[in-house]
Amino acid sequence: MRLREAEVGQGRGYRAVPFIITSVVLCAALAFACWYVSKSQECAVTVVAWDREVALHTTASTVAEVLEEANIQLAEGDVCDKPLDTPVVEGLRVEVYRAEPRFVYYDGNVTTVFTTEKSVSAVLALANITPGPDDVVLPDVDALLSDGEPVRVVRVTYEDVWEDRVVAFKTETRPDDSIEAGLTRVYREGVTGIERVRYLVRYEDGKEVSRKEVAKGTVREPVSKIILTGTLTQMSRGGENIRFTRAIEVKATAYCPCVKCCGAYANGTTHIGLPAKQGVIAVDPRLIPLGTRVYVDGYGYAVAADTGGAIKGNRIDVCFDTHDEALRWGIKQVKVYVLE
Ligand SMILES: [Zn+2]
Repeated sequence: MRLREAEVGQGRGYRAVPFIITSVVLCAALAFACWYVSKSQECAVTVVAWDREVALHTTASTVAEVLEEANIQLAEGDVCDKPLDTPVVEGLRVEVYRAEPRFVYYDGNVTTVFTTEKSVSAVLALANITPGPDDVVLPDVDALLSDGEPVRVVRVTYEDVWEDRVVAFKTETRPDDSIEAGLTRVYREGVTGIERVRYLVRYEDGKEVSRKEVAKGTVREPVSKIILTGTLTQMSRGGENIRFTRAIEVKATAYCPCVKCCGAYANGTTHIGLPAKQGVIAVDPRLIPLGTRVYVDGYGYAVAADTGGAIKGNRIDVCFDTHDEALRWGIKQVKVYVLE
């Protein structure tokens, strides 16, 4: 009986072995099945990014998950060629483009846009800039940008500007027979005119770059200056008729041959060798050539025969025989008539 029990016991033991083997085999089969099934659900996917290409066998279900698995983060402006919720299928190819910074210069500001767009118009739209009708876009809105090329919008504005301008007056001369030849008199002073000019001023980014005259009007006409030029060539002095070629207005001082007037070493003769006496005057030879016969108002007839250190330009020195006479003359503003 004991033996049987033992056999029975043994018999139960022997029946347990196949059960364990079967279980192990089943588990293995199940694991393999699971692995096989999951393996068969993986898809081969290729991700082409700006810097690398990644080949994946993935169970991801959307493009977003694929990018995450490939460790690719999309930043502002980066573009994926497929919507992120696109389902993953075998052989899927996903391309990702990295955005570049684009600088847009406008109104003195710089706007940075991150985009893969190359067209100027698209970049402007992203920067939220609408150029005005006169604005200049560089390069042209239809152009495509090269790498790193910025977009510039030059703001062009126009303004009407009025400006008053001085107009010079003309000078006229008129002959006048009441004035001695060689002398002139201002009959009327000139007055400058004013004209108002309208300019169209062009500004680029607020700076004036050009102005064009578009209209002009007169505010005040200029008034010509009138100068009378003498034509008189004869005069009467002490009942005598004297003819002359021209008159000159001068400042006249007086001298005599004395030491006080001519210095200790003066020899009493003039520059051209005539004795210094009444009837001789000292002149600036550039104004009155030496040897010229003249009539000096208040003095009488004389010859330009002498020179003097102080006698320059419209100056003469009239000679008297005595020092007293010279002192009496003093300084006078007179006319010198150059005789024919
Ligand atoms: Zn003297």
